[in-house]
Amino acid sequence: MNKTEKDIRIVLDFIKIYCAQKHKNVDKVFIEEYNAMLCPDCLDLARYAVKRRMACPKNPKPPCKKCDTPCYSPKFKGKIREVMKFSGIYLIKRGRLDYLLHYFK
Ligand code: SF4
Ligand SMILES: [Zn+2]
Repeated sequence: MNKTEKDIRIVLDFIKIYCAQKHKNVDKVFIEEYNAMLCPDCLDLARYAVKRRMACPKNPKPPCKKCDTPCYSPKFKGKIREVMKFSGIYLIKRGRLDYLLHYFK
């Protein structure tokens, strides 16, 4: 798995966790290419995040929150921050620090 694929996998995993926990009562569809059950809003965010990552001109790529030319629209920027924070805390609380360390090293 290259760095881009790894970054995409992380962001999709985080969106999956967020959607499963925060949108429990919202109808979801299985998205085969993402291997995820997502509600319409989270699917929009996932598609947007994947597109941004694929088009990222930075090499090496910094964490998006430290980027000097941020490319996210205000709407999705707030949303992805909320998702990454929520799911990061979710993983830590469930003893999945190993996941975070594995992917963020
Ligand atoms: S915010 Fe910066 S680092 Fe993140 S995808 Fe956009 S250009 Fe790349
Ligand atoms: Zn959702």
